[in-house]
Amino acid sequence: MQGQGQVIFRSLAKIADSPPDFIPTDSKAAKVSAEERVLQQSLKYKRRNFHFQCGKKRADGSDAVSREDDRLIKRDDILNALGACGVQCSKCFAYEQGDIQSHSSELKRLLGCFDVYAERFVTLLNEPRFKNYAPFKDLLQLFSEAGCRGCRQGECLFKDCGIIRCYRGKGVDFCFECEDYPCDRTNFDEHLKTRWLQINDRMKEIGVERYYEEVKDVPRY
Ligand code: SF4
Ligand code: SF4
Repeated sequence: MQGQGQVIFRSLAKIADSPPDFIPTDSKAAKVSAEERVLQQSLKYKRRNFHFQCGKKRADGSDAVSREDDRLIKRDDILNALGACGVQCSKCFAYEQGDIQSHSSELKRLLGCFDVYAERFVTLLNEPRFKNYAPFKDLLQLFSEAGCRGCRQGECLFKDCGIIRCYRGKGVDFCFECEDYPCDRTNFDEHLKTRWLQINDRMKEIGVERYYEEVKDVPRY
């Protein structure tokens, strides 16, 4: 039988809309309540981090949420590196401070006034390929000027990309997580569409993190 004090305390807690697990002592109800609270917090955490599940939750309903900070940070890095289509923005020639941009800038700096030498080397070194230095330098200039911050910032050189305008509204990070995947809204040509399908099918199969491990050190092109 419950003590009168405890009954009053419970009523007051209810009126004040306080969590019932504030009720002290060894009450069984209090323990259940505390457990429920932990469960609620856990569910809240899962909902908040729904996008950190590598699509696994959406694909098969499994409870594969990682709560480790380093994995959450890693997921953020992955979202910065991969576009919503799955292609690696960070390896794109147009990506600001990407590998291609930074190496091109450095190469341009190292070559200095090589124009004069290229012209001379055609005959001096009997190497006709130095005649191609001017167009090479033009491309190097293009690469070193890269300023795109990636499609998640709403940019892409491919202005007609249908995914940029679509994926947020669908509530997904990647196309394979979308209920309409594969769709015909990408506006991709055949080559890009094939690549899009390969990438997204692979991510669906092994998860985003493992996919990223597979591709992060290989050239995009
Ligand atoms: S958004 Fe487009 S242009 Fe920009 S880095 Fe990504 S793929 Fe390249
Ligand atoms: S509708 Fe198509 S383009 Fe849009 S998110 Fe889904 S799969 Fe991607």
